[in-house]
Amino acid sequence: MVKQTIQIFARVKPTVRKQQQGIYSIDEDEKLIPSLEIILPRDLADGFVNNKRESYKFKFQRIFDQDANQETIFENIAKPVAESVLAGYNGTIFAYGQTGSGKTFTITGGAERYSDRGIIPRTLSYIFEQSQKDSSKIYTTHISYLEIYNECGYDLLDPRHEASSLEDLPKVTILEDPDQNIHLKNLSLHQATTEEEALNLLFLGDTNRMIAETPMNQASTRSHCIFTIHLSSKEPGSATVRHAKLHLVDLAGSERVAKTGVGGLLLTEAKYINLSLHYLEQVIIALSEKHRLHIPYRNSMMTSVLRDSLGGNCMTTMIATLSLEKRNIDESISTCRFAQRVALIKNEAVLNEEIDPRLMIIRLQKEIQELKDELAIVTGEQRTEALTEAELLQLEKLITSFLEDQDPESRLEVGADMRKIHHCFHHLKKLLQDKKIHEKSTVSSEIKDQNCQEPLKEEEHKKLRDILQQRDNEINILVNMLKKEKKKAQDALHLSSMDRNEFRHSQSSPFPPGNPEGPRTLPSSAPTQVHDSSAVGYRSSLLHRKTEMREEMSLGRQEAFEIFKRDHADSVTIEDNKQILKQRFSEAKALGENINEARSKIGRTLATLDQGKEGGKNGPVYSLALLHILLGSAMRAYFVFNNFFLGGANL
Ligand code: ADP
Ligand code: MG
Repeated sequence: MVKQTIQIFARVKPTVRKQQQGIYSIDEDEKLIPSLEIILPRDLADGFVNNKRESYKFKFQRIFDQDANQETIFENIAKPVAESVLAGYNGTIFAYGQTGSGKTFTITGGAERYSDRGIIPRTLSYIFEQSQKDSSKIYTTHISYLEIYNECGYDLLDPRHEASSLEDLPKVTILEDPDQNIHLKNLSLHQATTEEEALNLLFLGDTNRMIAETPMNQASTRSHCIFTIHLSSKEPGSATVRHAKLHLVDLAGSERVAKTGVGGLLLTEAKYINLSLHYLEQVIIALSEKHRLHIPYRNSMMTSVLRDSLGGNCMTTMIATLSLEKRNIDESISTCRFAQRVALIKNEAVLNEEIDPRLMIIRLQKEIQELKDELAIVTGEQRTEALTEAELLQLEKLITSFLEDQDPESRLEVGADMRKIHHCFHHLKKLLQDKKIHEKSTVSSEIKDQNCQEPLKEEEHKKLRDILQQRDNEINILVNMLKKEKKKAQDALHLSSMDRNEFRHSQSSPFPPGNPEGPRTLPSSAPTQVHDSSAVGYRSSLLHRKTEMREEMSLGRQEAFEIFKRDHADSVTIEDNKQILKQRFSEAKALGENINEARSKIGRTLATLDQGKEGGKNGPVYSLALLHILLGSAMRAYFVFNNFFLGGANL
């Protein structure tokens, strides 16, 4: 990157009248920066007496006096810029000054003599000469020529038009890309392979420029002309291309309106005839001020086109053309003041390099071929693009054994052949992908299995629901059974009370009802048997029903029944009653035994009576008395039974 301020030069146009020569002086001490002193004449200037200052001093890079020829101007001003353009930097040379001060003469040159040719033809000549000399690079030159008049751009190199006025030329418009780069739409770019071709383009443009000019529009004084040399260079075989642009700018006349006097306030207040020069000054003021963020480039087409030349990526040079005649002193001072501001602007020129992809491909292809050749020499084998079938098989075998090898130190040796290495990677990748797909399918089949298990789960649910239902049913059955039991108990109570009544009813007779025969006809064991069998039968039927019921019940129900019994509010009473019942049962049993004993005694007594009938007279009386005794004990036993059952029924 090259950082430098805009270089400013002054060129004084030769004056016709010799008496004008005393109004300026040039101080060109080699050690000091050259300065131009403009001395205000003591006599009247435009009829006004100058009472203020006598002279103005302006510093320039270099000041070229009237005798400086075009060659000197080119050598000192344009040549260094052309050299940097050849090196790949952007460059701009612009001439600024009032109309008639020699801008066009300096930039383009005079038409009269060959030696009057200006910066453009000389620069073209220099560039072609240098590019032909330099065999290390290939140069390509393109030319464009733009005229800006009244904020409109015109292509001076349009070959289709024979312009009779500026309006006949194609209009050029400005386009700005997202990176804020300026593009000129409709501005034709013409390749020039030789200096002659380039000069012809210059003449074409100048011709168009002159034809377009009429005394009415005064295009030359009010328009800006920008001749641009687009230079590309690259080293042979390299893909890097350098692009540089050289703008050679002939600005519109800088003269101003309100030209009422010289010096002082009036000069600064004067306005440019050309509005875009006003905007150029605004840009230059903005650029010369520190910390100024916004630069009003967009205000005019000229400042937009010259954006890079002013404070950007460009090496820029200004030539202040001065027509130092008495009547032009104010304009000359204005021009010099403008130049002083321009000198403050810093530019940063960079090399505009880019890679040409087309060239890069060619270069790489060449390099590949060279490397292939080199490899063939080293390995002794000519490698083709693809591996052979046998080689591929061999590689796949190697990969398989490598993958199967449990040794962590094992290696996959395929040599230094990149084709083989790549194939191995591809194969491994494929295996990995296959594995992934397989895993996916396994997972999906597992998911499917799970889906299959869903009905199983459903079954399980069903099973559980059934069990639940069963339990519910069991509970219902238990509840029903409890209800039934309660009912049975009530029935039993009812039955026992009925039995008891029946028993009470038959209590008047010592024998059970329905026996038509009296005690006499009764078999010896009959009464006891009757009572015994009815009591035992009832009890056994109860017990039987109870055990039957228990047997009918499932274990769960039995358990539930036991819990119910245990937790019942009357469980203690039941238990107590049970104990009482047991006790009474054993008492009844003992009485039964007594009865049996009494019965056998009766039997025996009856037998004795029968014997007495045959042997003694008191026998029948005794037997009768004994029978009464026995009957009494039998009745007592019956009551005990009866009480027992009453108690049992009350439970
Ligand atoms: P501008 O373009 O600034 O309006 P021109 O370049 O057209 O001025 O110059 C006006 C006239 O002065 C032209 O005829 C030109 O040939 C002549 N002229 C300008 N500068 C010089 C110079 N240094 N030597 C000889 N003639 C010059
Ligand atoms: Mg001119």
